[in-house]
Amino acid sequence: MSEKSQSVVIVGGAIIGSFVAYFLRKEGFLGSIKVVEKDSTYQYSSTALSAASVRTQFGCPFNIGMSLFGVDLLKNIKSHFGEDAEIGFDERGYLMLGSHQAIDSQRDNALMQREQGASIDILTPGEALARWPWLNVEDIGIATYGCANEGWFDAWTLLQLVRREARKLGAEYVNGDVTAIDSLGEKVVGVRLADGTAIPCDWCVNAAGPAGGQVASLLDIKIPVEPRKRTIFHIKTPVSGAGFPMLFDNSGLYIRPEGEGFIVGISPDEARDPHPGDDFEPDHYLLEEVLWEKLAHRIPAMEQLRLQRAWAGHYEMNLLDHNGIVGAHDVMKNFLIATGFSGHGVMHSPATGRGIAELIVHGRYTSLDLSPLGYERIRDNKPIVESIVY
Ligand SMILES: Cc1cc2nc3c(=O)[nH]c(=O)nc-3n(C[C@H](O)[C@H](O)[C@H](O)COP(=O)(O)OP(=O)(O)OC[C@H]3O[C@@H](n4cnc5c(N)ncnc54)[C@H](O)[C@@H]3O)c2cc1C
Repeated sequence: MSEKSQSVVIVGGAIIGSFVAYFLRKEGFLGSIKVVEKDSTYQYSSTALSAASVRTQFGCPFNIGMSLFGVDLLKNIKSHFGEDAEIGFDERGYLMLGSHQAIDSQRDNALMQREQGASIDILTPGEALARWPWLNVEDIGIATYGCANEGWFDAWTLLQLVRREARKLGAEYVNGDVTAIDSLGEKVVGVRLADGTAIPCDWCVNAAGPAGGQVASLLDIKIPVEPRKRTIFHIKTPVSGAGFPMLFDNSGLYIRPEGEGFIVGISPDEARDPHPGDDFEPDHYLLEEVLWEKLAHRIPAMEQLRLQRAWAGHYEMNLLDHNGIVGAHDVMKNFLIATGFSGHGVMHSPATGRGIAELIVHGRYTSLDLSPLGYERIRDNKPIVESIVY
């Protein structure tokens, strides 16, 4: 589908929407591409507020493939976005700690991840301690470490680069809030903005992040995607960040170096994790009541920490199975969904952008098969649960 007369409207112009626009051109789409974004500052987008880390340690094989493609792009950023492209990719790996009860399942996961092409070291607690001597491993049964293709980067800069390139390739960014989607029979025919502007289209892509469920509802389509607030604390501690990985503790906390300190976070209990509406206030109780103790237990030298700042963003949570929803709606076949990544959408944005572009241009996936992530499992209420989520 590459005629010049064809048009795509992408709702949401952050990292997913921008990668869709970029890859549409890379896949040979010649028609018009309009990316509609309601907040050109992106201050509340998940992309700008994320921890911007990438891992290959997942429970679902397709998530590993998506990460590997994303990492490859990050490592070859200049070949995609020019010689001046620099996103500070720090390939220091994720260290995942498991309890004694988790030894078998974590080892099996690591073996599966290796089969999918990930580079994962499987370590005993003693081996982990020898490598990271500040760890308390007394209650740890296993550690796995992504010794390549895992780390973190600057997501804000990546967004600017993809947007710049997409624009250069002829995508137009339109400032506007999509408040209606028009359809005729079983086809989307255009979107309407809050100011009354109507934009016709042959394809409509829902890349609205945490608002993905709300945007789908404009067509009376139900997807189980809702925002959930996640707080990040930037702290300083006496521990040096040199050689420190991204640490996923079995207590649920994560911590990694950031600037001269660390960023640390944990998901709240379900009972304290409501739909946040427009609330972006950091949940300070998490540091005081939950994180502090867990952190001091795992890394005793971190008992003395100083809070530098905190911020909160919204995960686009897929309440069914914590996996992205990627692909066409079964009835409205020209309405494509690309949301629901539940905390791993930046790392999967290149693979998602390319996948959606392939569906539009070729009518099928031609590289990574993302069909397990399709809308059908939502329709049929058949979750494919991603077990390794933070
Ligand atoms: C605290 C936190 C930490 C995270 N850490 C990581 C991490 O380490 N690694 C990782 O891979 N992922 C992480 N994520 C998840 C990641 O940030 C998201 O999965 C990813 O940014 C989703 O990108 P997106 O473009 O779909 O959504 P967003 O970045 O939220 O963008 C959606 C855009 O759509 C626009 N929009 C919405 N509705 C409309 C409308 N009606 N009309 C027009 N525009 C609209 C919004 O203004 C917004 O700019 C984290 C998220 C948070 C909140």
